[in-house]
Amino acid sequence: MFSDPGHSNGYFHHQDGGAFPEHNSLRPPHRGRGRRRGRRGRSHDSADAPASGAPRVADSDQRVEQKPPPCTDFDVAYFHSYAHLGIHEEMIKDRIRTDTYRAAIMRHQSFIAGKVVVDVGCGTGILSIFCAQAGAKRVYAVDASDIAVQANEVVKANNLSDTVIVLHGRVEDVEIDEEVDVIISEWMGYLLLYESMLGSVITARDRWLKPGGLILPSNATLYMAPVTHSDRYSDSIDFWRNVYGIDMSAMLPLAKQCAFEEPCIETISGENVLTWPHVVKHVDCYTVTLGELESVTTRYKFKSMMRESSNNQSTDVSQRKKRGNPSEALVLSTAPEDPPTHWQQTMVYFYDPIDLEQDQVIEGSLTLTQSRENRRFMNIHLEYTSGGRSFVKESVMR
Ligand code: SAH
Repeated sequence: MFSDPGHSNGYFHHQDGGAFPEHNSLRPPHRGRGRRRGRRGRSHDSADAPASGAPRVADSDQRVEQKPPPCTDFDVAYFHSYAHLGIHEEMIKDRIRTDTYRAAIMRHQSFIAGKVVVDVGCGTGILSIFCAQAGAKRVYAVDASDIAVQANEVVKANNLSDTVIVLHGRVEDVEIDEEVDVIISEWMGYLLLYESMLGSVITARDRWLKPGGLILPSNATLYMAPVTHSDRYSDSIDFWRNVYGIDMSAMLPLAKQCAFEEPCIETISGENVLTWPHVVKHVDCYTVTLGELESVTTRYKFKSMMRESSNNQSTDVSQRKKRGNPSEALVLSTAPEDPPTHWQQTMVYFYDPIDLEQDQVIEGSLTLTQSRENRRFMNIHLEYTSGGRSFVKESVMR
């Protein structure tokens, strides 16, 4: 048993936000072209800003393409949420994120210099400007949100209008009349895949990327692991047992529902993690298809460890990272044992704590599915068996 039987046990999912390996000749063959609170479109106020078909700050000539997918009301609301500056401020102030992107661009400077880049979802234009600073010949900075208007002002104020062309529209709709050498994008949502922006990177890749072109980031991995978080359980649930001396235990069922029905975006530490993580999904940005993102399923099997073992494990993980060869992949990690980012971790809590013996096996499956109602939402289906008991937790990330 755990030394503290009051542990709350749940799962967190974290993503390595992407890896930026050295550009090399081992590219897969070209496939032919053809918040809310927090980040990322979690605000769903009715949208009043046009996204598709919005006036463009700049535009390029027409070219024959496959019919783009419709821009739904949900997409319009999504782009509208990115018109607020706060969401961009939060991302830019996440130094782990922004510094890693800049480092990746500078690491590939010799490839980017003199080349054509498309920035999928440029936001304020920050990554486009980093690419211009790295010597890109031309950068198409595309964003369907009205933040593109400000991005264009920023570009002008920095005397980069000759290099950075801001296109105000969806990547699926705008026209770029040439092939590009580099695609850069910061597309990662909570739980890596939430908000389904990776699909737009795939679209850009298939529309414009030259054979042998570079995609930054090149790949990304979503992990899961069981965690313990007893303080969280006490704060949200045990609190109701004694409120100013009043027994409010009658609130417990409602408190559990309110606290744990939906996935929670929270920062935990490596000490909360009970086992080595399991890879839920590895995405190779050169080969990933839209179809494989519609539903992701994995079977997992963990052997739980006591808290002390878990601590040792966390240390091992960070030491292993530090020993890594600096000439290898540049990793933007959102792991709990690494410094926190605005992505935090995504926790899927069970309604009640589950006691585990040391080395008790926990196994089951996890399925992440784009919601039919809105593909930017995610249905999370978690099955879990341990100690002869089975559970299913269904939740939706809206
Ligand atoms: N690149 C910026 C902003 C990243 S946030 C930075 O790193 O700070 C993601 C941005 O992508 C948002 O501004 C959003 O409006 C935009 N975006 C998402 N999907 C898009 C699409 N299909 N077409 C155009 N822009 C898109």
